[in-house]
Amino acid sequence: LSQIFENWPILKHPNAYVLIHEDYTRLKLSAQELTLENWKTFFANIIAVRPPKKEDNNAQALIELIQSDDSTEDSKIVLQLKLLPDLLAPKTRIRTKKIQWKPSIPECKDSIIMSTTLIADITKIQENRRKVAIDLGITLQPFIIAVGSLQDISDFFVAVDNILYKVPSILKAIDLCFKIFQVFDVKYPIESAHIWLLFQRILYTSESSSDNISPTIMETISDIMTFQDRNTLSICYCYHDTCRRSFNSFYSYKKHFFSNHFGFDKTRISHNRNSENDFYSDCTELESLNCPNLKSSDKINQSLELKFPFYELEIFSIEAFQSVVLYPQQILK
Ligand SMILES: [Zn+2]
Repeated sequence: LSQIFENWPILKHPNAYVLIHEDYTRLKLSAQELTLENWKTFFANIIAVRPPKKEDNNAQALIELIQSDDSTEDSKIVLQLKLLPDLLAPKTRIRTKKIQWKPSIPECKDSIIMSTTLIADITKIQENRRKVAIDLGITLQPFIIAVGSLQDISDFFVAVDNILYKVPSILKAIDLCFKIFQVFDVKYPIESAHIWLLFQRILYTSESSSDNISPTIMETISDIMTFQDRNTLSICYCYHDTCRRSFNSFYSYKKHFFSNHFGFDKTRISHNRNSENDFYSDCTELESLNCPNLKSSDKINQSLELKFPFYELEIFSIEAFQSVVLYPQQILK
């Protein structure tokens, strides 16, 4: 990325982001614009399908600030942006030349947006971010810097390499950052790639065959789509035994399925399980349920061959079963 800026010094000009927007339009990826309304819908959908945990104090504190009347519109969006990694934690394990590493939630947040109360601290932030990247053996990708108190953020910047673009609002910052990734064909930061992919697929409705979508994000996307369609969808039913309970989202249905019909409890959510063996016994158990809500055992076994076998997931969760449970509306057909 720094090479691009060496070769094209015009991009160092503070107004160069106009050129970036023009180049983005020329890529003809999607005509979808990021508007306040789109963002609000997007965020409401995420909260609906991935609600914050009550015991997650960080998330609850952010939500309190988001709901506060004292927070400005821009601040609310910054806080929402900072909340997303709490709702959608990074799950991928990364191997670089230097280390093996699983990004934490704070690392994920930092790779999207950094905030400071002092404009004078911006250079320090950029230097720190660069140092962190060097230590991890990764390249520093574009990120957003917000300046001001959490409830009243006044200035927004996009930091790319050594260059800083000032933009008038947080949405403009997200938009510019996203377009820089596309225009310069730069990879999303590995700590937050899953969140940028979600923006790409849902906010910008843009798909590419090179998208490296994890099962967790695939499921989030499909849950959001299901949630969005809820008004047009006929209510779906659980067809297990004589259950017939109705649900209006795939997620709530799956939650019901695993807690009510599969004994999905604390014993199944554990870090210490021998994941592979436990996975096979869970599969056998799933098979023995002989339930029309599930794919055939052949299909379940096929899922093992997939790029992301679900037994590799560190924490055994409902998400791990995303490729096994059928959408209830498929059953109705
Ligand atoms: Zn049921």
